[in-house]
Amino acid sequence: MYAERVKILNPYVPGEQPKDRVYIKLNANENPYPPSPKVREALQNFDYSQLRRYPDPDATELRGAFASIVKVSPDMVYAGNGSDEILSFIFYTFFDGKLPVVLPVHTYSFYPVYASYYNIALHKVPLEEDFSISIDKLLKPESCGIIFANPNAPTGRFMSLEKLHELLTRYDSDKPVVVDEAYIDFGGETAVPLLKEFHNLVIIRTFSKSYSFAGARLGFVIAASDVINTFITVKNSFNHFPIDSIVQKLGVAACEDYEYYEKINTEIAKTRDWFSKELGQLGYEVIPSKANFVFAKKSGLSGEEIYKEIKRKGILIRHFNHSGIENHVRISIGTREEMNRLLDAIKNISC
Ligand SMILES: *Cc1c(COP(=O)(O)O)cnc(C)c1O
Repeated sequence: MYAERVKILNPYVPGEQPKDRVYIKLNANENPYPPSPKVREALQNFDYSQLRRYPDPDATELRGAFASIVKVSPDMVYAGNGSDEILSFIFYTFFDGKLPVVLPVHTYSFYPVYASYYNIALHKVPLEEDFSISIDKLLKPESCGIIFANPNAPTGRFMSLEKLHELLTRYDSDKPVVVDEAYIDFGGETAVPLLKEFHNLVIIRTFSKSYSFAGARLGFVIAASDVINTFITVKNSFNHFPIDSIVQKLGVAACEDYEYYEKINTEIAKTRDWFSKELGQLGYEVIPSKANFVFAKKSGLSGEEIYKEIKRKGILIRHFNHSGIENHVRISIGTREEMNRLLDAIKNISC
């Protein structure tokens, strides 16, 4: 009864959302703060009668508002239902499966899901000892494109713009380099200025983390305008009304309160740096992070043990059972109070 292609599917496993008790949730890199008060106002003022109309298929106002915060022209950005949808279109637009797509072995785990969905070969290259991404290793195999997150997930490590510039300089200028900047607002430096020099650079953003919009589903792609036009052709061949009219309005309101987000994301970065130190003092090895999470391990404890002990104490963190990082846990940064509760729980792990 099912198509052949369904048999090979390998779906993504999101962070768990158990209902058995109330947990402190530090497992999905969600923002601990609510969206801007301007977003609440926009939601309250939304004219429900407009729901009978189709939304603007190109989310023109939203596109303009986002373009102005990233300081590019509106024809260089496009919006999608979360960056996961954008990524799906990216895989479809650029990668054809003849040569593999190169990516670090540990990066966002949705990339392999799309590769298998579209039947695209992958070539995974190891990370360096300190979990940074080696550009030599990314460049070595023959490939049809490169994709990774910067800061990377789940390590939190940031690749400097200098290194990214070197990568782009040494790579074929007609093959895409896709940089997923899901966590860029927590202290990294965006690659947007490099778009002037590199036509093959494609940048992905999401509002889920730094704009407290995970439930609203909003993401963007930033690239040269002709790349965006091709991207639109792909999108319109699949679903030409992606962003609903409520989220279009809320997204505009969020873009208009950039100061609010700067404030909460700076606070998260401060909490992260403080928490990383505290965790270090408890004997944990913490990878320096520029994201809203930290990746850490403690010798003598497996990642699964840490995860399970912490869960018993009512706090959810993330453990990946992937070879090479199985002893690490990924901890999203919440409020100071939540992180203090977590530190207490960690201190009480018996080992
Ligand atoms: C969370 C995340 C996404 C997905 O974001 P959505 O906009 O919620 O789909 C994409 N890439 C990375 C690296 C992420 O961590």
